[in-house]
Amino acid sequence: MNPKKVATMYSILRQAYEARLAAHALRSGPFVAGAAFAQNEIVELAEAKVPLFDLGFLRSDLTYDVPAVWDGRFFRLDDHLDRLERSCAKLRLEPPMERSAMRDMLIALVRKTGLRDAYVDIIITRGAPKFGDRDLRKATAAVYAFVIPYVWIMPLAMQETGGSAIVARDVRRTPPGAMDPTIKNLQWGDLTRGFFEAYDRDALLPLLPDGDGNITEGCYNIFTVHGQVLRTPARGVLEGVTRRTAIEIAEAEGWRVDLGDTPIGSLYTADEVFLTSTAGGVMPITVLDGAPVGDGKVGPVTRKIWDRYWALHADPKLSFAVEYE
Ligand code: PLP
Repeated sequence: MNPKKVATMYSILRQAYEARLAAHALRSGPFVAGAAFAQNEIVELAEAKVPLFDLGFLRSDLTYDVPAVWDGRFFRLDDHLDRLERSCAKLRLEPPMERSAMRDMLIALVRKTGLRDAYVDIIITRGAPKFGDRDLRKATAAVYAFVIPYVWIMPLAMQETGGSAIVARDVRRTPPGAMDPTIKNLQWGDLTRGFFEAYDRDALLPLLPDGDGNITEGCYNIFTVHGQVLRTPARGVLEGVTRRTAIEIAEAEGWRVDLGDTPIGSLYTADEVFLTSTAGGVMPITVLDGAPVGDGKVGPVTRKIWDRYWALHADPKLSFAVEYE
């Protein structure tokens, strides 16, 4: 058999995705680029407004979550809404909408856009208290959301050979005692500094240390692979839905997954390093701090998790079809 004729999961996924993108590009109408929910109504992206005095804007007093739609199916939406509810409870934010109404609203937004592959962002802010009133308990929370084409933190084309990352030297992750990272938040000062350091050091993505010799996360979770043992930080990170999916896949393969402190040094001895996020999926890191990770190629463990991760998007136990208009 000619090896060139063997379609990999990567090429199958990429071709199908590009075909959907091409089909979507032929559509027209006010919502093809996306749709937003603001001030309790669905509007075009450019029409969505946030009041100046919303504390979400003024103080980043908010939480958010990002589920995604892949090939016309919402993936693990209820797991994202569970996390959103936990984040709201920890911040003492009471969403002004029932969970079922938020769920319906997100589905309605996706339908409106017709996007088969979408990044779905829902934000709950503290809201705007009466002018001059500093009592946070008196503010009424607000809900915002938007749906745009699927976002790749690491471009799909790069995922076949892997991307580059750095361990940040100039910035550490905000410690959990200051900002609880299990609350998905937009206090991105540390991540933003990390991204600029990555640009300066010719890398795509920053990995932030905790200041005690361990790695934490970026806007993605981090896994090391030594043989068939995977490791990912247990604390000081967001408990990612993609991380959970990767752990479930690895365990189903019979591989060990250790959750615990992940020393920075272990990144340099790893056979494989990969990152996980809803926006991009399972992202192989093949260059770290300018040097190859393992043999510098996407390794077998990462590849297996990558394949299974995308295959699971069609599994009715974890996803459901959007009924488009
Ligand atoms: N860590 C942080 C700080 C994030 O912002 C994200 C996602 O945006 C993740 C991890 C990955 O989480 P998930 O897999 O649920 O998208």
